[in-house]
Amino acid sequence: MTRTLAEVAHEASTCTRCKLAGMGRTQVVFGVGNPDADLMFIGEAPGFHEDKQGEPFVGAAGQLLNQLLGGIGLARGDVYIANVLRCRPPGNRDPEPDEIEACTPWLVETISLVQPRLIVTLGNFATKYVLQTTQGITRTRGQVHAWHGRTVIATFHPAAILHGGGEKSRQFQDMRDDFALVQRTLSPQTSHPADQPATDAGRAAPAPGQTPRAEPPLIIPEPTPEEQLGLF
Ligand code: URA
Repeated sequence: MTRTLAEVAHEASTCTRCKLAGMGRTQVVFGVGNPDADLMFIGEAPGFHEDKQGEPFVGAAGQLLNQLLGGIGLARGDVYIANVLRCRPPGNRDPEPDEIEACTPWLVETISLVQPRLIVTLGNFATKYVLQTTQGITRTRGQVHAWHGRTVIATFHPAAILHGGGEKSRQFQDMRDDFALVQRTLSPQTSHPADQPATDAGRAAPAPGQTPRAEPPLIIPEPTPEEQLGLF
């Protein structure tokens, strides 16, 4: 029988599948938001504030995420937010392969229960993991990727904006463009991105007098059946 998201989260709350359970976590940070959301965000791992409060993206990066969501007419309660890892790595170090492997079933089960049409990966780590690519975020962002029958859009991690140039930076403008692409992709008029030609949908047209940037193609092909078998 299929479990509800709340039941899965309850089970995960006592998870000891990896060493992070014994490395000073305050609590498991399962995920938050609308269990029927069309749009799901995946970040890297809980940080200090998330570990204390039990909710993803509640610190400064979360405030920026809320602001970007508001810019496209959405609130946190409209979307679902989770991370690759459900427990805070000590000192916010990068997730380690055994931790990712142990935590992935929680993420896969979350995706299969929420059934989001569109997943937005936040930052290099989540993007490389979800899309199984070695390409950096600067090349993967701003495109609509077909992924296991869904759509993935990659964008910067909000913390990277805060630690970089802030709201005046080119990265922030790019991130706002990515959120506009999210809005267009979610709009009922937009057909599934994989149905669209690879050159026209998605990106904002360059402003008058501006030269278009050299961009990678919009649509990344669906993974092969072999790739799909190894989901993630
Ligand atoms: N950074 C993340 O990747 N996830 C969070 O939940 C908070 C900060």
